[in-house]
Amino acid sequence: MTELAAYACRPGQSRGRRHPEPAPGNRNAFQRDRDRIIHAGAFRRLEYKTQVFINHEGDLFRTRLTHSLEVAQIARVLARSLGLNEDLTEAIALAHDLGHTPFGHAGQDELNACMREFAPDAGGFEHNLQSLRVVDELEERYALFNGLNLCFETREGILKHCSLAHAKLLGEVGERFIARTQPSLEAQLANLADEIAYNNHDIDDGLRSGLLTVEQMQAVPIFARHYAEVLQAWPDIAQRRAVSETIRRMINTLITDVTVTTAALLARAAPVDADAARRSGPLVAFSGAIRQEADDLKKFLFENLYRHFKVMRMTNKARRIVRELFSAFIHEPRLLPPDYRRGDDQVQARAIADYIAGMTDRYAIREHHRLFQMGDHL
Ligand code: MG
Repeated sequence: MTELAAYACRPGQSRGRRHPEPAPGNRNAFQRDRDRIIHAGAFRRLEYKTQVFINHEGDLFRTRLTHSLEVAQIARVLARSLGLNEDLTEAIALAHDLGHTPFGHAGQDELNACMREFAPDAGGFEHNLQSLRVVDELEERYALFNGLNLCFETREGILKHCSLAHAKLLGEVGERFIARTQPSLEAQLANLADEIAYNNHDIDDGLRSGLLTVEQMQAVPIFARHYAEVLQAWPDIAQRRAVSETIRRMINTLITDVTVTTAALLARAAPVDADAARRSGPLVAFSGAIRQEADDLKKFLFENLYRHFKVMRMTNKARRIVRELFSAFIHEPRLLPPDYRRGDDQVQARAIADYIAGMTDRYAIREHHRLFQMGDHL
């Protein structure tokens, strides 16, 4: 590892774990966090959860697992070139989607709607909070504590957003939302790496699926610019290969831009340590021009891919499955596996949300069959 900058997080200076543990022997505290995340059951389930496309629609599309690996790869490159802590940013990147429901955003939106309707005082459902809940409470792998007992810095990075009402209930990881400070630079960086990863792989998957066309993508300046460069260098290149070259170049442009812009912001703010960086306002950023291009791309994807009628049909089915599962369980908790039954209504609603959020796409589809189709009881 290259030398850490003054403002990098250092495992020896961690604010520690909720349940004190002796320091690990052959790795540092952030490496231990990363390893615990990789061994978690919720991490393995990311393989069968999706972002845009439902899991069984094609073997080449990204899943949340491959997405998380791409985010970690981009975040590590950025961390290394900025003198930030590569292990911490990797741990945050690998854990950032652990709380995602089946069926991507459609699943989370519907679960939130169900929680608000059936348990209005329970606080809804939010995937960032759920990711934290997975690593703090839901994983059952250790004799001495629930969850993975991760370091403060990793937990801080996982909790990207949070309402003020929730923040007040969350102890030290909630404090920054009340004090309006930033998370560590490593957390800021994992967050931007997430955006770089999904924007680019959604173009790739969108084109591969045929829901988007290269002609349509000409309306997106960042794509058009890089695509033209590729065609100029290789006029006879096959389209599939030209698209890959274009995406590769776009990722490179974005990573280079973040590195240069962030290095300049850091040089100007000159935080003396990691805590000073947290108080300095956002320091990991795109330049103004690239920020604009990235926003235009997002807007294009929203209108043309996430709102494509074929994706909307998928989303609509996904929402119905989540709603019907939730409604069946809340009206008759004895339909739930015994582990998820609770006496109290509020607590019961939360346990149902945990159960559904933990499902993979195909498990949710099967569970729906088991509940609603005759002749399919087990
Ligand atoms: Mg993500």
